[in-house]
Parts: sequence; C-alpha cells; structure tokens
Amino acid sequence: MHISTILAHAGLTPDPTTGAITPPIELSTIFKYPENGYPEAKFGYTRHNNPGRLRLEEALANLEGGQDAAAFGSGIAAMQALIQALGKDAHLLVPDDLYHGFRTLLLDYSTHWGLEVSFVDMRQPDQLVQDFRQNTRMIWIETPSNPMLNLTDIRAITTLAQSHDILTCVDNTWMTPVLQKPLVLGADLVMHSTTKYMGGHSDILGGAIITKEASPFFARIRQIQQVSGGVPSPFDCWLLLRSLRTLYVRMHHQMKNAQIIADWLSRQSEVSKVYYPDLSKESTSTFASQQMMGPGAMISFLLNRSAKEVLSVVSKSKIILPATSLGGVESTWEHRYSSEGPTSKTPDQLIRLSVGIEDVHDLIKDIERALS
Ligand code: PLP
Repeated sequence: MHISTILAHAGLTPDPTTGAITPPIELSTIFKYPENGYPEAKFGYTRHNNPGRLRLEEALANLEGGQDAAAFGSGIAAMQALIQALGKDAHLLVPDDLYHGFRTLLLDYSTHWGLEVSFVDMRQPDQLVQDFRQNTRMIWIETPSNPMLNLTDIRAITTLAQSHDILTCVDNTWMTPVLQKPLVLGADLVMHSTTKYMGGHSDILGGAIITKEASPFFARIRQIQQVSGGVPSPFDCWLLLRSLRTLYVRMHHQMKNAQIIADWLSRQSEVSKVYYPDLSKESTSTFASQQMMGPGAMISFLLNRSAKEVLSVVSKSKIILPATSLGGVESTWEHRYSSEGPTSKTPDQLIRLSVGIEDVHDLIKDIERALS
C-alpha cells in the first residue's frame, strides 16, 4: 500500500465489541492479571506497556518499514535511551551540524558516563573510516541536518558501517517516512522527535526509535524504556496516532509552500544565502534525489544584517510565529543562534523557518513586511 493509505488508517482497528472505529484511550495504569499472573499478561502496568502505546508503536514500525518501535515521552528521551543502550566506553560518531539539544546531551551529560563522541563531516563518507576506533559502536546520521540542512548519503554510510560491524541510526524527524525511508537505505535504526511533523500541531511531546529487525540492541532499548520510564502518556499516544492520519497531506502542503518561499527568498537582496535542499543540483543529485522524495519544509537563510537586526526581524511578523521547534501546521521562525545559546555553532545572521500550511502568498507578504 502507498504510505498515504497506511497513514490515513493509522491505528484504526474497529473495536470488536462496540464497533468503534476510533481507538479508545486506556487511562488505567494497571491491568487485571490472568490466572497465571504477570508473566502471561499482555498488559500489566502502563510504564511497561499500554494498549494505546502498542497501537502507536505498531503504526510507527509499519510506517518506517521496521519490525518494532519503542515510543518515548520526547525525542531527547529516545536519544538518551539509545545512548544508554550503547553501553559503557562506546564510541559514537555524530555529524558536526546536528540538533543542538543532542550536542548538549552528548557533551554535558553522556561523556561523564564514559561515552566517547566524535563530531565529523558526514558529507565526506570516504573519509569517515579515519575516525573509526576499536570501540566505535554507532554512526548517527541527521539528514537534512539541523539547522544548516547538510545532506548525508545514507546508503554510502550504512554500507561502510556494515562492513565494520558498526550500527547506524538516522534521525528522520525533518523528513518523516513520507519523504525518506532510512531502513530501506540500510540503516539499522530510525529515531524521531514525534513532537515535530508527526504531531504536527505543536501540542504533543514525543519520541520514538524504530528498528529494522529484532536484535539484542533493540531489546536493551526496550528494557531501558520500561525500566527508566521515559514513556508517553496514553493521551499523547492517542493524539499522535490521530495526527499521523493527516501527515501525508500536511507534509506535502508544507513542502509545496516551502519550495515557493525558498525560491522567493533566493531572489531577495537582503538575503545572502538560502539553505534548502536543491535536489536537481549536480553535486547532490546522485544520492539526494534518490533517498529523498522531496526537500521538506524547513528553510534556513542568512540576512545581510547584524545579529541584533536579525533578531528584531523575527519579532516583526504577523502570521509567522516567533517560536522554537518546528513541523506545526502554523509557520514559525527563530533566530537560531540565540535559541541555542552561547555554545551555538550556528551563524548569528541565520533565521530558521518552519513552513506551515497557510496561504503561501500571505506568508511571503509577512516575510516581506518583517524584512522591511
Ligand atoms: N531531533 C531533531 C532533528 C530535532 O529538531 C529535535 C528538537 O528540536 C529533537 C530531535 C529533539 O526532540 P524533542 O524536542 O521532542 O525532545
């Protein structure tokens, strides 16, 4: 089935007793044990499992073409579980441009527990082998990267990793399975901040890890999920499943608007550079046009102005909301450098724009007004 069909029916299994099409929300934290007690119970305690979470996990695994999924209370909780599962003294390779919160998690917390991390340019897969160590356990891929929209060749890196017995995980938050399927391209795992496009309405915090196949590594992630308890609430699971049903149309509408806006921005004299994947460009077309089914709906751009003026521009829009995060149906933008704080590696003239589903001409007029 096409992904639009799978999404429209995400989590819909009519209730056998009532015939209800939309699933219920099972708020109960405890479930009655069968006669032989807990080991035989499908559900016992909500931190370990919950019917709604199971429905969500099955839907997420199905969408990415994986065998199993673990849902978390946030994207960063999913990342934390993954790092913990790597074990003591593991070495992790991550891209030098990546979600700032993950950089903080790695540098400020995880290294205390013995994790070794190398920040590398993932755009040069041929040179990656130089950074391998004996204890390299995983390569983390974020493509397009946040906020510079660097593109990484997933197939090239997963092929290299497999030949060295190294795991690969792709943060697919910005693309979603509508636009990119990392497991098909050889990745072992996919991670999502479901807070973004999957949720799509800026009202759910969530994360997930999806595995291509059952493995001791994924079993460890499942154990950490259940024992550490960074799980989503039954209501958030339900809301996320509901949001998934419109993901395909949202993603395509947002992307169509973003393509028009990126093109418009590239013709403005105040804009010195636009970062938005051009899948027709010679340098990226060989892999990017194959691995991405579209450039997505995130745009970063630089203004010919001081950081203070750029910060002021984002406060002058009337439709586009000056706010962090991304992926909602409403457009938002931010001066990324000040959001990331003093350790930011982002240029201080950069605006990161998350394009929503509004009328594209209204959005362009709004940007024009803010710039003037
Ligand atoms: N990955 C990416 C690419 C993100 O942009 C974010 C958040 O902005 C995260 C992960 C973290 O997700 P969360 O905020 O749900 O913890």
